[in-house]
Amino acid sequence: MEDDQDPPSKAGIDLGPQCPNCGEPWLRPTNLPGRYRCVYCLHRFELTSVCPHCGEHSTIVRMSSTAILKCNACGHSMLQAV
Ligand SMILES: [Zn+2]
Ligand SMILES: [Zn+2]
Repeated sequence: MEDDQDPPSKAGIDLGPQCPNCGEPWLRPTNLPGRYRCVYCLHRFELTSVCPHCGEHSTIVRMSSTAILKCNACGHSMLQAV
C-alpha cells in the first residue's frame, strides 16, 4: 500500500518541487530513492548526481522532499526524465 495516487485537488497540501515537464508543483517522491513523479502530468523523473546542464557533480542532500533538486553551480534542475 505504498501507491500514492492522491489527485491534486485538495487545498492545503504541501506544494512540492516544480515538475520540469509541466511546471506544476506536483512533483512527489516515489517509493524508489531518487525517483520522482509528477502527479499532474504523470511524468517520471530521476534525480541525477551530475548536472545535465553544466556537468557539475552534486551531492544529493536529503533534508526534505523539497529543494535540493537543483544544481548548486548553475541552478539547473537535477531531474531527468525517466
Ligand atoms: Zn508534470
Ligand atoms: Zn549545473
